Amino acid sequence: MNTNETLLEVKELKTYFYTEHGVVPSVDGVSFHVKKGETIGIVGESGCGKSVTSLSLLQLVSEPGKIVGGEILFDGKDLTKYSNKQMRKIRGNKISMIFQEPLTSLNPVFTVGMQVSESIRLHQRVDKQKAKVIAIDMLAKVGITNAEKVYSSFPHQLSGGMRQRVMIAMALSCNPQLLIADEPTTALDVTIQAQIIKLMKDLSKRLDTSIIMITHDLGVVAEMVDRVIVMYAGQIVEQNDVFELFKNPMHPYTKGLLNSTPKIHQLNDQLESIEGNVPSPSQMPRGCKFHPRCPLAMDKCKLMEPPLFQINEGSEVRCWLSEEEGEMAL
Ligand code: SF4
Repeated sequence: MNTNETLLEVKELKTYFYTEHGVVPSVDGVSFHVKKGETIGIVGESGCGKSVTSLSLLQLVSEPGKIVGGEILFDGKDLTKYSNKQMRKIRGNKISMIFQEPLTSLNPVFTVGMQVSESIRLHQRVDKQKAKVIAIDMLAKVGITNAEKVYSSFPHQLSGGMRQRVMIAMALSCNPQLLIADEPTTALDVTIQAQIIKLMKDLSKRLDTSIIMITHDLGVVAEMVDRVIVMYAGQIVEQNDVFELFKNPMHPYTKGLLNSTPKIHQLNDQLESIEGNVPSPSQMPRGCKFHPRCPLAMDKCKLMEPPLFQINEGSEVRCWLSEEEGEMAL
Protein backbone atom coordinates (compact mmCIF):
# COMPACT_ATOMS: atom_id res chain seq x y z
CA MET A 1 0.00 0.00 0.00
CA ASN A 2 1.42 3.33 -1.04
CA THR A 3 0.42 6.04 1.44
CA ASN A 4 1.31 9.69 1.55
CA GLU A 5 3.25 9.31 4.77
CA THR A 6 6.96 9.97 4.37
CA LEU A 7 9.22 7.24 5.73
CA LEU A 8 12.59 8.60 4.68
CA GLU A 9 13.62 12.14 3.92
CA VAL A 10 17.15 12.85 2.75
CA LYS A 11 18.11 16.51 2.81
CA GLU A 12 21.22 17.94 1.14
CA LEU A 13 23.26 14.80 1.80
CA LYS A 14 26.98 15.19 1.19
CA THR A 15 29.42 12.28 1.34
CA TYR A 16 33.00 13.14 0.48
CA PHE A 17 36.09 10.96 0.13
CA TYR A 18 39.33 12.41 1.43
CA THR A 19 41.93 10.83 -0.85
CA GLU A 20 45.61 11.62 -1.37
CA HIS A 21 44.60 13.23 -4.69
CA GLY A 22 42.17 15.58 -3.00
CA VAL A 23 38.56 15.69 -1.82
CA VAL A 24 36.12 13.72 -3.95
CA PRO A 25 32.47 14.75 -3.51
CA SER A 26 30.82 11.40 -4.34
CA VAL A 27 27.42 12.57 -3.13
CA ASP A 28 27.05 16.30 -3.38
CA GLY A 29 23.86 17.77 -1.94
CA VAL A 30 21.32 15.03 -2.68
CA SER A 31 17.71 15.46 -1.47
CA PHE A 32 14.82 13.04 -1.94
CA HIS A 33 12.13 11.25 0.01
CA VAL A 34 10.49 7.82 0.11
CA LYS A 35 6.89 7.36 1.17
CA LYS A 36 5.63 4.35 3.11
CA GLY A 37 5.10 1.41 0.75
CA GLU A 38 6.67 3.26 -2.18
CA THR A 39 9.39 1.90 -4.47
CA ILE A 40 11.86 4.38 -5.88
CA GLY A 41 14.72 3.77 -8.29
CA ILE A 42 18.07 5.54 -8.24
CA VAL A 43 19.71 5.21 -11.66
CA GLY A 44 22.91 6.31 -13.35
CA GLU A 45 26.18 4.98 -14.72
CA SER A 46 28.77 3.56 -12.37
CA GLY A 47 30.55 6.27 -10.44
CA CYS A 48 27.48 8.56 -10.40
CA GLY A 49 27.12 8.28 -6.60
CA LYS A 50 24.07 6.02 -6.41
CA SER A 51 25.72 3.26 -4.37
CA VAL A 52 27.51 5.71 -2.07
CA THR A 53 24.12 7.35 -1.47
CA SER A 54 22.62 4.02 -0.38
CA LEU A 55 25.63 3.12 1.80
CA SER A 56 25.42 6.56 3.41
CA LEU A 57 21.83 5.90 4.47
CA LEU A 58 23.09 3.00 6.60
CA GLN A 59 26.35 4.69 7.62
CA LEU A 60 28.27 1.95 5.82
CA VAL A 61 30.60 4.23 3.87
CA SER A 62 34.14 3.11 4.56
CA GLU A 63 37.25 5.24 5.03
CA PRO A 64 38.32 7.61 3.56
CA GLY A 65 34.65 8.41 2.91
CA LYS A 66 32.62 10.47 5.33
CA ILE A 67 29.19 12.05 5.54
CA VAL A 68 30.03 15.74 5.80
CA GLY A 69 26.64 17.36 5.56
CA GLY A 70 22.90 16.98 5.39
CA GLU A 71 20.24 15.00 7.19
CA ILE A 72 18.81 11.50 6.80
CA LEU A 73 15.44 11.59 8.51
CA PHE A 74 14.06 8.09 9.00
CA ASP A 75 10.68 8.04 10.69
CA GLY A 76 11.48 11.61 11.73
CA LYS A 77 14.86 10.83 13.39
CA ASP A 78 18.16 11.99 11.90
CA LEU A 79 20.33 8.90 11.30
CA THR A 80 23.45 11.01 10.72
CA LYS A 81 23.41 11.71 14.45
CA TYR A 82 23.20 8.02 15.40
CA SER A 83 26.14 6.21 17.01
CA ASN A 84 27.45 2.90 15.63
CA LYS A 85 25.57 1.07 18.32
CA GLN A 86 22.29 2.79 17.47
CA MET A 87 22.85 2.13 13.76
CA ARG A 88 23.39 -1.60 14.41
CA LYS A 89 19.83 -1.70 15.74
CA ILE A 90 18.51 -0.01 12.60
CA ARG A 91 20.44 -2.16 10.09
CA GLY A 92 18.77 -5.41 9.18
CA ASN A 93 15.97 -4.52 11.51
CA LYS A 94 14.21 -1.38 10.29
CA ILE A 95 16.32 -0.98 7.15
CA SER A 96 17.71 -4.00 5.28
CA MET A 97 20.05 -4.08 2.34
CA ILE A 98 20.66 -6.61 -0.41
CA PHE A 99 23.67 -6.53 -2.66
CA GLN A 100 24.49 -7.62 -6.20
CA GLU A 101 26.42 -10.78 -5.47
CA PRO A 102 24.78 -12.91 -2.80
CA LEU A 103 27.69 -15.32 -2.62
CA THR A 104 29.89 -12.65 -1.06
CA SER A 105 27.16 -11.77 1.44
CA LEU A 106 26.46 -15.34 2.54
CA ASN A 107 28.99 -17.16 4.69
CA PRO A 108 30.17 -20.29 2.79
CA VAL A 109 30.85 -22.37 5.92
CA PHE A 110 27.36 -22.19 7.45
CA THR A 111 24.12 -23.59 6.11
CA VAL A 112 21.57 -21.24 4.65
CA GLY A 113 19.16 -22.13 7.45
CA MET A 114 21.65 -21.27 10.15
CA GLN A 115 22.31 -17.87 8.59
CA VAL A 116 18.64 -16.98 8.09
CA SER A 117 17.78 -18.18 11.64
CA GLU A 118 20.69 -16.23 13.14
CA SER A 119 19.53 -13.09 11.39
CA ILE A 120 16.03 -13.62 12.80
CA ARG A 121 17.34 -14.25 16.32
CA LEU A 122 19.53 -11.17 16.15
CA HIS A 123 16.45 -9.00 15.79
CA GLN A 124 13.59 -10.95 17.36
CA ARG A 125 13.41 -12.55 20.77
CA VAL A 126 12.69 -16.13 19.70
CA ASP A 127 14.32 -19.47 20.53
CA LYS A 128 16.17 -21.60 17.97
CA GLN A 129 13.16 -23.78 17.21
CA LYS A 130 10.86 -20.82 16.57
CA ALA A 131 13.55 -19.10 14.46
CA LYS A 132 13.77 -22.23 12.31
CA VAL A 133 10.00 -22.23 11.74
CA ILE A 134 10.06 -18.52 10.76
CA ALA A 135 13.09 -19.08 8.51
CA ILE A 136 11.49 -21.96 6.60
CA ASP A 137 8.29 -19.97 6.24
CA MET A 138 10.26 -17.00 4.90
CA LEU A 139 12.16 -19.19 2.42
CA ALA A 140 8.81 -20.51 1.18
CA LYS A 141 7.46 -16.93 0.93
CA VAL A 142 10.28 -15.95 -1.44
CA GLY A 143 9.23 -18.74 -3.77
CA ILE A 144 11.62 -21.52 -2.70
CA THR A 145 9.52 -24.65 -3.16
CA ASN A 146 11.72 -27.10 -1.24
CA ALA A 147 12.33 -24.70 1.67
CA GLU A 148 13.21 -27.41 4.24
CA LYS A 149 15.88 -28.88 1.96
CA VAL A 150 17.31 -25.46 1.11
CA TYR A 151 17.37 -24.66 4.85
CA SER A 152 19.96 -27.42 5.33
CA SER A 153 22.01 -26.55 2.20
CA PHE A 154 25.26 -24.63 1.97
CA PRO A 155 25.33 -21.49 -0.23
CA HIS A 156 27.57 -23.09 -2.91
CA GLN A 157 24.98 -25.83 -3.42
CA LEU A 158 22.43 -23.29 -4.66
CA SER A 159 22.09 -21.46 -8.00
CA GLY A 160 22.66 -17.67 -8.23
CA GLY A 161 18.91 -16.99 -8.42
CA MET A 162 18.25 -19.21 -5.42
CA ARG A 163 20.97 -17.49 -3.39
CA GLN A 164 19.47 -14.09 -4.20
CA ARG A 165 16.08 -15.39 -3.01
CA VAL A 166 17.77 -16.46 0.24
CA MET A 167 19.25 -12.97 0.62
CA ILE A 168 15.81 -11.43 0.08
CA ALA A 169 14.35 -13.83 2.67
CA MET A 170 17.07 -12.76 5.12
CA ALA A 171 16.56 -9.09 4.36
CA LEU A 172 12.80 -9.34 4.80
CA SER A 173 12.73 -11.77 7.72
CA CYS A 174 12.63 -8.93 10.24
CA ASN A 175 9.88 -7.00 8.45
CA PRO A 176 12.04 -3.97 7.65
CA GLN A 177 10.24 -0.74 6.87
CA LEU A 178 12.78 -0.01 4.13
CA LEU A 179 14.68 -2.37 1.84
CA ILE A 180 17.66 -1.02 -0.10
CA ALA A 181 18.52 -3.23 -3.07
CA ASP A 182 21.81 -2.42 -4.81
CA GLU A 183 21.80 -3.96 -8.30
CA PRO A 184 20.08 -7.07 -6.90
CA THR A 185 19.53 -8.73 -10.27
CA THR A 186 22.61 -7.68 -12.24
CA ALA A 187 24.51 -10.94 -11.72
CA LEU A 188 21.54 -13.09 -12.74
CA ASP A 189 20.33 -14.23 -16.13
CA VAL A 190 17.35 -12.46 -17.67
CA THR A 191 14.63 -15.02 -16.79
CA ILE A 192 15.74 -15.21 -13.16
CA GLN A 193 16.01 -11.39 -13.07
CA ALA A 194 12.34 -11.13 -14.04
CA GLN A 195 11.36 -13.65 -11.35
CA ILE A 196 13.30 -11.82 -8.64
CA ILE A 197 11.80 -8.46 -9.66
CA LYS A 198 8.30 -9.91 -9.55
CA LEU A 199 9.05 -11.47 -6.18
CA MET A 200 10.30 -8.19 -4.68
CA LYS A 201 7.29 -6.34 -6.06
CA ASP A 202 4.85 -8.86 -4.59
CA LEU A 203 6.59 -8.93 -1.23
CA SER A 204 6.77 -5.16 -0.92
CA LYS A 205 3.02 -4.97 -1.59
CA ARG A 206 2.22 -7.78 0.82
CA LEU A 207 4.50 -6.60 3.63
CA ASP A 208 4.10 -2.85 2.88
CA THR A 209 7.87 -2.40 2.69
CA SER A 210 9.31 0.67 0.96
CA ILE A 211 12.11 -0.10 -1.48
CA ILE A 212 15.04 1.89 -2.84
CA MET A 213 16.27 0.14 -5.95
CA ILE A 214 19.78 1.13 -7.03
CA THR A 215 20.41 0.16 -10.63
CA HIS A 216 21.96 1.13 -13.96
CA ASP A 217 19.23 -0.85 -15.73
CA LEU A 218 16.24 1.19 -16.89
CA GLY A 219 14.41 -2.04 -17.73
CA VAL A 220 14.38 -2.93 -14.02
CA VAL A 221 13.18 0.59 -13.22
CA ALA A 222 10.30 0.41 -15.72
CA GLU A 223 9.17 -2.91 -14.24
CA MET A 224 9.39 -2.04 -10.64
CA VAL A 225 9.45 1.49 -9.36
CA ASP A 226 6.93 4.28 -8.73
CA ARG A 227 9.39 7.15 -8.95
CA VAL A 228 12.85 7.58 -10.49
CA ILE A 229 15.87 9.61 -9.42
CA VAL A 230 18.58 10.02 -12.05
CA MET A 231 22.05 10.78 -10.71
CA TYR A 232 25.08 12.14 -12.51
CA ALA A 233 28.46 13.04 -10.99
CA GLY A 234 27.20 12.93 -7.40
CA GLN A 235 24.07 14.99 -7.97
CA ILE A 236 20.43 14.44 -8.85
CA VAL A 237 19.87 15.63 -12.41
CA GLU A 238 16.24 14.54 -12.75
CA GLN A 239 13.50 13.20 -10.55
CA ASN A 240 10.02 12.22 -11.70
CA ASP A 241 7.18 9.73 -11.64
CA VAL A 242 8.22 6.62 -13.62
CA PHE A 243 5.59 7.01 -16.38
CA GLU A 244 6.38 10.69 -16.86
CA LEU A 245 10.10 10.04 -16.95
CA PHE A 246 9.78 7.42 -19.67
CA LYS A 247 7.19 9.42 -21.62
CA ASN A 248 8.78 12.81 -21.33
CA PRO A 249 12.41 12.73 -20.14
CA MET A 250 13.65 16.27 -19.56
CA HIS A 251 17.38 16.08 -18.92
CA PRO A 252 19.65 15.34 -21.90
CA TYR A 253 21.40 12.69 -19.77
CA THR A 254 18.10 10.91 -19.02
CA LYS A 255 17.28 11.03 -22.74
CA GLY A 256 20.70 9.51 -23.47
CA LEU A 257 20.14 6.72 -20.93
CA LEU A 258 16.73 5.93 -22.44
CA ASN A 259 18.11 5.94 -25.98
CA SER A 260 20.80 3.48 -24.97
CA THR A 261 18.22 1.02 -23.53
CA PRO A 262 16.87 -1.64 -25.92
CA LYS A 263 13.14 -1.51 -26.68
CA ILE A 264 11.13 -4.38 -28.14
CA HIS A 265 10.13 -2.55 -31.35
CA GLN A 266 13.72 -1.43 -31.94
CA LEU A 267 15.41 -4.80 -31.77
CA ASN A 268 17.02 -4.40 -35.19
CA ASP A 269 17.94 -0.75 -34.76
CA GLN A 270 21.30 0.34 -33.55
CA LEU A 271 21.29 1.62 -29.97
CA GLU A 272 22.66 5.08 -29.36
CA SER A 273 25.19 5.48 -26.61
CA ILE A 274 26.07 8.56 -24.60
CA GLU A 275 29.34 9.95 -25.92
CA GLY A 276 32.26 10.13 -23.51
CA ASN A 277 32.58 9.01 -19.91
CA VAL A 278 31.56 10.18 -16.47
CA PRO A 279 34.20 12.80 -15.54
CA SER A 280 36.75 11.79 -12.95
CA PRO A 281 35.70 13.26 -9.59
CA SER A 282 39.03 15.02 -9.23
CA GLN A 283 38.56 16.72 -12.63
CA MET A 284 34.97 17.88 -12.59
CA PRO A 285 34.26 20.34 -15.39
CA ARG A 286 33.16 23.86 -14.56
CA GLY A 287 29.51 24.76 -15.13
CA CYS A 288 27.10 21.91 -15.84
CA LYS A 289 28.94 18.69 -15.02
CA PHE A 290 27.35 17.02 -18.04
CA HIS A 291 28.32 19.69 -20.59
CA PRO A 292 31.32 17.87 -22.16
CA ARG A 293 28.93 15.02 -23.13
CA CYS A 294 25.78 17.02 -23.78
CA PRO A 295 24.65 17.39 -27.41
CA LEU A 296 22.60 20.47 -26.45
CA ALA A 297 25.25 22.33 -24.43
CA MET A 298 25.20 26.13 -24.73
CA ASP A 299 27.89 28.65 -23.79
CA LYS A 300 26.18 29.33 -20.48
CA CYS A 301 26.40 25.62 -19.57
CA LYS A 302 30.18 25.77 -19.62
CA LEU A 303 30.31 28.61 -17.13
CA MET A 304 27.41 28.25 -14.72
CA GLU A 305 26.19 25.17 -12.92
CA PRO A 306 22.40 24.79 -13.26
CA PRO A 307 20.36 24.45 -10.05
CA LEU A 308 17.51 21.94 -9.77
CA PHE A 309 14.37 23.43 -11.32
CA GLN A 310 11.01 22.23 -10.07
CA ILE A 311 8.71 21.72 -13.05
CA ASN A 312 5.64 20.22 -11.34
CA GLU A 313 5.05 18.68 -7.97
CA GLY A 314 7.51 15.77 -7.78
CA SER A 315 9.33 16.57 -11.00
CA GLU A 316 12.69 18.29 -10.97
CA VAL A 317 15.47 18.73 -13.48
CA ARG A 318 18.96 20.22 -13.34
CA CYS A 319 19.32 21.79 -16.78
CA TRP A 320 19.37 25.36 -18.09
CA LEU A 321 17.01 24.34 -20.89
CA SER A 322 14.22 23.98 -18.29
CA GLU A 323 14.90 27.35 -16.64
CA GLU A 324 11.83 29.03 -18.11
CA GLU A 325 9.35 26.27 -17.32
CA GLY A 326 10.51 25.67 -13.77
CA GLU A 327 11.18 27.33 -10.48
CA MET A 328 14.36 26.81 -8.54
CA ALA A 329 13.81 23.83 -6.20
CA LEU A 330 14.65 24.65 -2.61
FE1 SF4 B 1 23.19 20.09 -21.40
FE2 SF4 B 1 23.38 22.62 -20.66
FE3 SF4 B 1 21.37 21.15 -19.80
FE4 SF4 B 1 23.84 20.73 -18.90
S1 SF4 B 1 22.61 22.56 -18.59
S2 SF4 B 1 22.39 19.21 -19.52
S3 SF4 B 1 25.03 21.11 -20.74
S4 SF4 B 1 21.80 21.75 -21.92
